[in-house]
Amino acid sequence: MESPNKENNIQYWSKCKVKDLYNLPFMDLIYKAASIHRENFNPNEIQVSSLLSIKTGGCPENCAYCSQSAHHKTGINKESLMPLDEILERAQIAKSRGASRFCLATAWRGPRPRDISYLTNIIQEVKNLGLDTCASFGLLEEGMAESLKDAGLDYYNHNLDTTPENYQAIIQTRNYEDRINTIQHIQHAGLKLCCGGIIGINENEDDRAMFIANLANLEPQPESVPINQLVKIQNTPLENAKELDWTDFVRTIAIARITMPKSHIRLSAGRNMLDEAAQGLCFLAGANSIFFGDKLLTTENNEESFDLKLMQKLNLIPEKPNFPE
Ligand code: SF4
Repeated sequence: MESPNKENNIQYWSKCKVKDLYNLPFMDLIYKAASIHRENFNPNEIQVSSLLSIKTGGCPENCAYCSQSAHHKTGINKESLMPLDEILERAQIAKSRGASRFCLATAWRGPRPRDISYLTNIIQEVKNLGLDTCASFGLLEEGMAESLKDAGLDYYNHNLDTTPENYQAIIQTRNYEDRINTIQHIQHAGLKLCCGGIIGINENEDDRAMFIANLANLEPQPESVPINQLVKIQNTPLENAKELDWTDFVRTIAIARITMPKSHIRLSAGRNMLDEAAQGLCFLAGANSIFFGDKLLTTENNEESFDLKLMQKLNLIPEKPNFPE
């Protein structure tokens, strides 16, 4: 049963309650989500982020969906950390194309203490370009989140990935508690949290409801919630995962919007597998953030020209940089 957390006046979301939402008639669900979206955001604005992999491939983790894991033979080569001038050039291009936030990602388990000064320098320099910054650097040890915050980092991305019950089926090299510990470090350091996960990984409706409930029950709720759809990659354990119907993706966006009314809900990986109409429905159902640029780490994203046309057709405008969340 749903019950308010008296201390913080935050609603607790049970799996049953979220599943009831998920199973509403499709039109009722979209209407409810769109209404909540309008109460909290301008529905004609979307936040635009740009994502750059600054250390690609050869990751020691074994996430079953990932092309960058050294455990799967996907043909992605291990690269070293990208030089600062190249990162800044990419950040400048992203800004000129309308991005308000620049997200930096690394394929490793987490930074070593000796990596922190290089990473904080990157953050300072990207901030100097007038962009919000987000880092996805994996598991953090004690004190690292504070160093990143002191360097000016705005957001840290750390996904719940999936439910605790499914975690070991998808990833064996770390556990769910590792993720929660890093999320606590992030929130204690005062960084904004970007936290979501992935669907289309053979989960069922119960799992999807539980995954969204777990996100919604984080205190405070994440400021950004990326919802990824599996992009099937050859030679990964999920290359033959069950197909996810597009309506299930839209339903997941809608329940994220309803349960996390003040969060930015981001259409992330897999967006390019949805046609224009389905993406439009996702925006109606409360998605209000996208990654812009034709590559997401190593997988394809919408072409920029496709996004520009779609935004024009739907009269969507980019949210201003540093829009309060
Ligand atoms: S998702 Fe991240 S942590 Fe997992 S294998 Fe890929 S790069 Fe490594």
